[in-house]
Amino acid sequence: MLSSPITPFIFKNNFYHIKRDDLLKPFEGNKARKFYYFYKNEFPNIKRVISFGSNQSNAMYSLSKLCKLKGWEFIYFTNHIPSLLKNNPHGNYLGALKNGAKIIEIDLKGDELRHYVLSLKDKNCLIIEEGGRIKESEYGIKLLAQEINDYCKKNDLKVFLPSGTGTTAYFLAKHLEVEVLTVACVGNEEYLKRQWSYLSDNQEIKNLTILPPRRKYHFGKLYKNLYDIWKELKFAGIEFDLLYDPIGWDTILFHDLKNILYIHQGGLQGNFSMLKRYQRKYD
Ligand SMILES: *Cc1c(COP(=O)(O)O)cnc(C)c1O
Repeated sequence: MLSSPITPFIFKNNFYHIKRDDLLKPFEGNKARKFYYFYKNEFPNIKRVISFGSNQSNAMYSLSKLCKLKGWEFIYFTNHIPSLLKNNPHGNYLGALKNGAKIIEIDLKGDELRHYVLSLKDKNCLIIEEGGRIKESEYGIKLLAQEINDYCKKNDLKVFLPSGTGTTAYFLAKHLEVEVLTVACVGNEEYLKRQWSYLSDNQEIKNLTILPPRRKYHFGKLYKNLYDIWKELKFAGIEFDLLYDPIGWDTILFHDLKNILYIHQGGLQGNFSMLKRYQRKYD
């Protein structure tokens, strides 16, 4: 059974509540929630999982863990693996390889890659969309909502989490009776709303709000102020992910949000390569 603690966190003289999904076992973070449906249920016909996306994706690493636990083969297509990474594997790429993933470089991108992977479907295989943007993820995210709903109501808290595809924020809000605040880290507000339209059965979610960030950040790029926030968070006692969480906390500070339950969505396995890049540039 998945379940994680809520811990207190003082940051810049404010008190926050942190839902520690980074401490989930046997696999962690919001990808564990998204893939819990496949972990928990029996799929007697399934022998392999096929997915696609970037060569350092958190979803790739989590799927490799899921497949290892389930005894499934895991095949992952990615557009490009730099020779530096091939010769010196690290981060999620290394983690996935260690879990037995077959990571295949393919000269296709975007929709072409997606359609190619979808065409590989057969009765023995599960195809998982990039980043785990799948309806099945509602199952595990609903459980997360149930773990925090009473706590938030009792303590009069809003929930905050940074979004990629927005799948986690969407299903959380759907199953929570309190307000969910998020910020778009990958695309802009329009991108996030489009992702939500793919997930919804035209059900409007009223308790879900997108907050504007302090400034436009390009996903995966290095920003000195975000690196500083990440180091301060770590000094304050919790290591967060380097891609989404610094934008999340910068947004909290920008809007001066109080009475927040922050969802720590894991992803620390992926920090290695970002941290290397940051250290090379700023330390
Ligand atoms: C995948 C991921 C996200 C984004 O989740 P979405 O459901 O796509 O919005 C945020 N933080 C971490 C650490 C992740 O791994």
